[in-house]
Amino acid sequence: MNPVPLKNADPAHSGVRTVSVLGATGSIGDSTLDLIRAEPERYRVEALTGNANVAGLAKLAKEFNARFVAVADPARLGELRAALAGTAVECGAGESAVIEAGARPADWVMAAISGAAGLKPALAAVDRGTTVALANKECLVCAGDFFITRAAAAGAQILPADSEHNALFQALASGNRHELTRVIITASGGPFRTWAAADIEQATLAQALKHPNWSMGQKITIDSASMMNKGLEVIEASYLFALTPDEIDVLVHPQSIVHGLVEFADRSVVAQLGAPDMRIPIAHCLGWPDRITGRAAKLDLAKIGQLTFEAPDFTRFPGLRLAYDALRTGNGATTVYNAANEVAVAAFMAQKIRFGAISRLVEDTLNSWVRAGNLAPLGSADDAIALDHQARNLAATLLPQIAAKAS
Ligand code: NDP
Repeated sequence: MNPVPLKNADPAHSGVRTVSVLGATGSIGDSTLDLIRAEPERYRVEALTGNANVAGLAKLAKEFNARFVAVADPARLGELRAALAGTAVECGAGESAVIEAGARPADWVMAAISGAAGLKPALAAVDRGTTVALANKECLVCAGDFFITRAAAAGAQILPADSEHNALFQALASGNRHELTRVIITASGGPFRTWAAADIEQATLAQALKHPNWSMGQKITIDSASMMNKGLEVIEASYLFALTPDEIDVLVHPQSIVHGLVEFADRSVVAQLGAPDMRIPIAHCLGWPDRITGRAAKLDLAKIGQLTFEAPDFTRFPGLRLAYDALRTGNGATTVYNAANEVAVAAFMAQKIRFGAISRLVEDTLNSWVRAGNLAPLGSADDAIALDHQARNLAATLLPQIAAKAS
């Protein structure tokens, strides 16, 4: 009798893998390097980048014997050189150096710079036709399907590192495109899941930074509290897997154990589960197309006991509704959504606006952009970057009146 066939490892993927980590000093960078650290014989580090954390970057460069490191802040080149004196590590500073890090020859690149600043370095990696693990959702949201088209043209393999999209990527493998009826991404609901709208409006920075399940960078933690992060992920899923907004649902799941589900025509629903630990989707990307030994805790469902699910509340969390609106509008609206949100989050962190004003600024920026008749398709990365700048300027102009207005 023949056993049920399982895939065998491809020997073509068994050699030493050259890797670069863009955003090495951040939370995703840390999780990625934790996996690389565990199996040093499997990987050689080509390039690492940071923004301003020179000490952290230099420490990583020495530990992983990186060939090249770059900080985005051009004023810190001298500091970086001094920190790496006596080593053979090449270094650079400024945006062009971070882009060079993305372009360096590597078999696998983690794109984990936060915000739209990650777009050009990720594109530099994509243009080399390499494998790019994409954590930086803003670069997809900002550049739309242009990013995917460019990856396809260069023969680059994009691997979704975001936990929900990685879950979908794994689940999608069990059916064909025409058999898919919808995908579902889960959301923890964040720290304000059960809060009344009036309390969410007044939430403080410390309250917004207290995520119930995930330990992440500050920007994404605030986006999780406003559910803008889920909005960005709906847009990300649409571009990554060529799905319409109607094919993407969001399900609130406070335990963050089921990350993504795919429903097929036969009504089978295939889901991926795991502890809320980014090392799981990153390990899937790092090992792909095979699997490596993970570093996260094994899932103990008996101990967890209960998994619960609820529908998202688009009224208390308008940022999620706005993401669907922007996706349906198209023609650069998702770029405007992302840019306005980055301006709003920075203003909230600087205590210039209330928490509830984040979504109001995004909505006003989008409305004002559409009213001015500015919608147009994106033809290039430069178009996306120019639009990002224009939308930031518009959001900055609208900011004082939003800040002054009570809810
Ligand atoms: P962090 O804030 O922890 O790290 C961001 C990284 O980007 C740091 O290395 C930072 O350098 C660098 N950086 C910041 N600004 C710039 C800039 N202008 N130019 C170049 N580099 C810059 O973020 P996370 O690791 O949490 O998130 C990274 C990306 O991954 C985001 O897009 C996020 O949405 C996504 N993501 C994160 C998840 C998570 O669990 N953390 C989950 C899924 C997706 P420095 O340290 O010097 O400031």
